[in-house]
Amino acid sequence: MARIIAVANQKGGVGKTTTAVNLAAALAAAKRRVLLIDLDPQGNATMASGVDKRVAKPNGCEVLLDEAPLHKAIVTTEAHYDLLPGNGDLTAAELKLMDAIARESRLKEQLAKVDDKYDTILIDCPPTLHLLTLNALTAAHGLLIPVQCEYFALEGLSSLLDTVKAVRQRLNPNLEIEGLLRTMYDVRNNLGNEVSAQLTQHFGDKVLRSIIPRNVRLAEAPSHGQPIHLYDRSSRGAIAYIGLAGEIIRRERGMAAGQAHDALPV
Ligand code: ADP
Ligand code: MG
Repeated sequence: MARIIAVANQKGGVGKTTTAVNLAAALAAAKRRVLLIDLDPQGNATMASGVDKRVAKPNGCEVLLDEAPLHKAIVTTEAHYDLLPGNGDLTAAELKLMDAIARESRLKEQLAKVDDKYDTILIDCPPTLHLLTLNALTAAHGLLIPVQCEYFALEGLSSLLDTVKAVRQRLNPNLEIEGLLRTMYDVRNNLGNEVSAQLTQHFGDKVLRSIIPRNVRLAEAPSHGQPIHLYDRSSRGAIAYIGLAGEIIRRERGMAAGQAHDALPV
């Protein structure tokens, strides 16, 4: 059975797409069968995976609207993970879904069809908490929250956690916090250290041990249409995402062994 992880935070520019793409590639390099879903109309995860969003059709839009089968829309990437591409069509899909029955469960229904084909399904969410993100949270077992270690990092986290609570009550009681991931971390920056300490104080062991450093190679890789381990496998960014993949795999094994989960921190 595939473990589905949504990468979400309604703040833009915190490293959601960078994390979704590079975690997908690192898990695939560890021989996991991975599907990455680009649920953001900006299509950044699609482009960063080396797939041209302008010609990707059918894509997530048709799949959500049940106009094309999922397997017809999925493409395989150079880094050996599968991708359900996304682009501006997703905005139209979101609008059309507004009046649909079971509008929050469309993605979940579709993913049930490929459940035995993948070990991990990652969903790159848009920077909103609207219907596309609700579809991701309804389908997901775990929520991975990238947090940029800078000013106002904590701002907005409480509305994200309120959304998680509402989703648990009404749509998906099994949704867990996979973890908060510190991104763009710069050890020389005192503020980063302060924010990091605050996060640990608030969220305890929900803060993942892996830390993603600020690394220019991570920012360059998308314009080459490559995940970091194809673009520069010895960079600090590449090493950090391999570490994150290891942590996610170890957590999964812990869950399989029946370790208790923490309650949602508030
Ligand atoms: P989001 O998907 O949350 O909007 P992105 O992953 O697109 O965020 O990241 C925002 C910008 O920051 C992008 O230009 C990306 O290349 C850059 N970036 C992301 N993570 C890092 C990092 N660890 N080091 C340097 N630049 C990064
Ligand atoms: Mg993004």
